[in-house]
Amino acid sequence: MSRLELRGIVRRYGTVAALDGVDLTVPSGTLTAVLGPSGCGKTTLLRCVAGFERIDAGEIVVDGQVVAGPTAHTPPQRRQIVIVPQEGALFPHLSVRDNVGYGLSRAERRRGRIDEALSLVGLAGYGERMPHQMSGGQQQRVAVARALAPRPSLILLDEPFSALDAGLRAELRHDVRSALRADRATGILVTHDQGEALSTADQIAVMREGVIVQHGSPTSVYRRPADAWVATFVGDAILLPAQAEPGHRDDPAVLSTALGPVAVAGLPSGHGALTVLVRPEQVRITAPPAPQAVIATVTGDDFHGHDALVTVRLPDGTHVTARIPAPADPMATGTRVGVQVEGTGLAWRVPEPAE
Ligand code: ADP
Ligand code: MG
Repeated sequence: MSRLELRGIVRRYGTVAALDGVDLTVPSGTLTAVLGPSGCGKTTLLRCVAGFERIDAGEIVVDGQVVAGPTAHTPPQRRQIVIVPQEGALFPHLSVRDNVGYGLSRAERRRGRIDEALSLVGLAGYGERMPHQMSGGQQQRVAVARALAPRPSLILLDEPFSALDAGLRAELRHDVRSALRADRATGILVTHDQGEALSTADQIAVMREGVIVQHGSPTSVYRRPADAWVATFVGDAILLPAQAEPGHRDDPAVLSTALGPVAVAGLPSGHGALTVLVRPEQVRITAPPAPQAVIATVTGDDFHGHDALVTVRLPDGTHVTARIPAPADPMATGTRVGVQVEGTGLAWRVPEPAE
């Protein structure tokens, strides 16, 4: 159990700042997902925390101890921090048991920590196998068991499921989450998969171009994204232009958009161009159109059984996609429907173009 604090971490490669002032706190015993697109600096961040990279500015503090800073650089082997990479972490010539026991003292082995770690990841009894006798998913489980075995201060997971297919990935991340919880481990899970971050982590740090742009619980990041970019990256977003009326006083204010009136709480003051966020599950579709609904035409229906993604063309020609829970039947292209927004949206001011 350990608490990690990152303060203003900068890491440059030549003139490129891969990390450009990262602030992040990971409370003890929790899992934080660092979510960001490819190339935003996620792996660099983990490598700095583990000590494989030196930082150019800032401070990395584990349990109150500075392990990296202007005058400190604790080498990786003395940080008790482990990284689980995307794949290929195992020694191919060692059995599962010896892989998991690699970093353990003889006393810990005798106390049965290897079997304990294998049970944590659901692989009790697999110790005598060789890595090549295991599936890709099982090999990643072994890699996680090996990382957990010495009870590190921190476990860093660098897109550890991304080489696996979707079904297996969901099962594995659930089991790895449970294993970390059962062992009260503190961890960072790096991913570019928003579904993975939302479903697995206690908190999410959204990263963009070397900076953490938002940090909070999965629900708060999803419901109150800091800007339109985060909204689009974390979940599906419908972004609509609107105008703030001068002198509006209502809260929530009701804005008119191509989807009809949208209630927005905490509208930025002043007047001018806004971007309004609505989530696809907030769009209600009625056929025949409900009174007062905006009239639209169905242009596509992606039927999934438990829900459907229905795309409609609005009167102004724009297309939006709604998520309809448990529809009775797919909606035929060309159907005239009504669309309305339920609940509240969010709005941001559109930045003035630079002069
Ligand atoms: P991510 O893991 O989010 O995909 P990385 O941390 O791997 O991103 O990379 C962040 C940025 O730093 C990228 O622009 C990448 O090209 C650059 N970078 C990473 N490692 C090096 C390196 N060893 N030398 C030069 N540039 C690097
Ligand atoms: Mg990476």
